[in-house]
Amino acid sequence: MAAHDTLNVPGSRDAREGMFPRLTPAQMARLAAHGTSRPFQAGEILIQQGDQTTRFYAITAGEVEIVRPIATGEELIVVHGPGEFVGDVHMLSGRRSVVRARGRTPGTLIELSRDGLLALIQTDSDLSGILMRAFILRRVELMSSGRGDVVLVGSAHSSGTLRLKEFLSRNGYPYSYLDLEKDPTAQELLDRFNVPIDEIPIVLCPGGAPLRNPSNRALADCLGFNDLIDEAKVRDVIVVGAGPAGLAAAVYAASEGLDVLALEATAPGGQAGSSSKIENYLGFPSGVSGNELATRAYAQAEKFGAEILIARGASRLACDRTPYAVELEGGGRLRTRSIVIATGAQYRRPPIPNLSRFDGAGVYYGATFIESQLCGPDEVVVVGGGNSAGQAAVYLSQTSQHVYMLVRSGRLAETMSRYLIRRIEESPSISLKTDSEIVDLEGDGRLQHVTWRNSRTGETETHPIRHVFMMIGAVPNTRWLDGCVVTDDKGFIKAGSDITPEELTRARWPLGRSPHLLETSLPGVFADGDVRSGNVKRVASAVGEGSVAISLVHRVLAE
Ligand SMILES: Cc1cc2nc3c(=O)[nH]c(=O)nc-3n(C[C@H](O)[C@H](O)[C@H](O)COP(=O)(O)OP(=O)(O)OC[C@H]3O[C@@H](n4cnc5c(N)ncnc54)[C@H](O)[C@@H]3O)c2cc1C
Repeated sequence: MAAHDTLNVPGSRDAREGMFPRLTPAQMARLAAHGTSRPFQAGEILIQQGDQTTRFYAITAGEVEIVRPIATGEELIVVHGPGEFVGDVHMLSGRRSVVRARGRTPGTLIELSRDGLLALIQTDSDLSGILMRAFILRRVELMSSGRGDVVLVGSAHSSGTLRLKEFLSRNGYPYSYLDLEKDPTAQELLDRFNVPIDEIPIVLCPGGAPLRNPSNRALADCLGFNDLIDEAKVRDVIVVGAGPAGLAAAVYAASEGLDVLALEATAPGGQAGSSSKIENYLGFPSGVSGNELATRAYAQAEKFGAEILIARGASRLACDRTPYAVELEGGGRLRTRSIVIATGAQYRRPPIPNLSRFDGAGVYYGATFIESQLCGPDEVVVVGGGNSAGQAAVYLSQTSQHVYMLVRSGRLAETMSRYLIRRIEESPSISLKTDSEIVDLEGDGRLQHVTWRNSRTGETETHPIRHVFMMIGAVPNTRWLDGCVVTDDKGFIKAGSDITPEELTRARWPLGRSPHLLETSLPGVFADGDVRSGNVKRVASAVGEGSVAISLVHRVLAE
């Protein structure tokens, strides 16, 4: 009997069974067709923590234990017996393992290489479903129990801490967190090692020196996120940006046999990843958090074999010759026969003095679980009158004593969904302040007071509020394209029949045909999602355009 039956793994019975399923003899036989059978010894390390997880194991006899090395020795996570398998979602990308797998008794197992595993899950939908579910549930369990091999030592008042927390959780990477305000020993430790306040947060990566307030890229490097990616290869298609549009393009491209690499400046999920709850995405009647949707899409892209380069943004497109080359922030270039640009948009920042001083230290640009935890029951301000502001106000009103919603014009935006308008109007914990703008933010280190002004009456009010959410629309992420493609006057990329004949002539469009539906003024370069001029700013349209773009990539590659 496998020992996991006696371990206290939290969650419902369904979740436990999903996390640790036992395969039938018929399923084991199908799995064996993709790998080789071999014996293992008690004490033999099958997967070492910190090593790339390039092997998958299913046990046919004996037991394998999964442990997490900790300061005082090891913590037993689970024991796998016959019919069970060792692995989690990082196997799909070949990332480093956060746990150690070791023979507990002698036995036999079926060993699959990463390619064998990918081939299995692409061809066997029954096993693919079981493995995918187990991989994701195991990862969720590691994340929620904070049983990662990374320790983040930070403060709720530091923007770097918030950034790194978001980066780790949006990459599905489990970590333990030590809060300097709540844990005096942590503060004492930093004092002893002379760590000044501007070098907080500290990240302890397995096997490396402590990182002091590292960039996302430094952390991605230290965790080996991009280790297996070959930058020299010419791809069929490069997708720039891994929000819903880019992830959809990566899923469709990989599932249709194209050699695809997606590159993402920060973490997968894009703006949708910062949405607390998306209620209007087809198939999720009770809503889905943006982070969950992104995590699933990311795993799905990897399942089909898409490669995703994390924390490496595109800095320039070399568009004067083919194959095109995408230059990367921090150096390096990737060559490709076609490109899907899915870089979306980013939040606008109103011209308030001191605003940047409080970024992440009281001023936020997304309202997710992480930010709502930081605010607790405190009063908050949400700035904006569109859908994302409405969602944030409704979401935060569930935990905050009061939400002040500041709208510059006389009413909520006409584009705001009816259901949100009704909830805002009916909620006793939301006060809608029209004709109102923030004029001053004050605080020592972190935000303490907010002043706003009513432009109709000229009156100002100052409140002891420590949290402001800026949700006032977005500007396109197209600066890196530096004139390679035709854009509209706001910088959004024009595509298909939106490009006028004069613009095509000026752009020296070289082909006898007109650009395809989502094709830009550069042949074989497509734009989808929020970055495209005229796009409906919705998750569903971003995802739909991702799939359409790939069907057109096939046509272009065949030309
Ligand atoms: C708070 C909030 C709530 C929302 N709620 C809803 C909702 O309920 N329903 C709904 O339908 N829509 C909602 N939206 C809108 C929806 O999230 C967007 O329409 C959708 O995310 C657009 O997807 P995208 O992939 O085109 O762009 P984005 O989501 O913006 O993703 C673009 C990605 O590209 C990356 N990137 C940018 N520049 C580069 C570069 N140079 N190199 C590499 N990568 C780069 C970014 O880091 C980002 O990950 C919401 C938006 C927000 C902000």
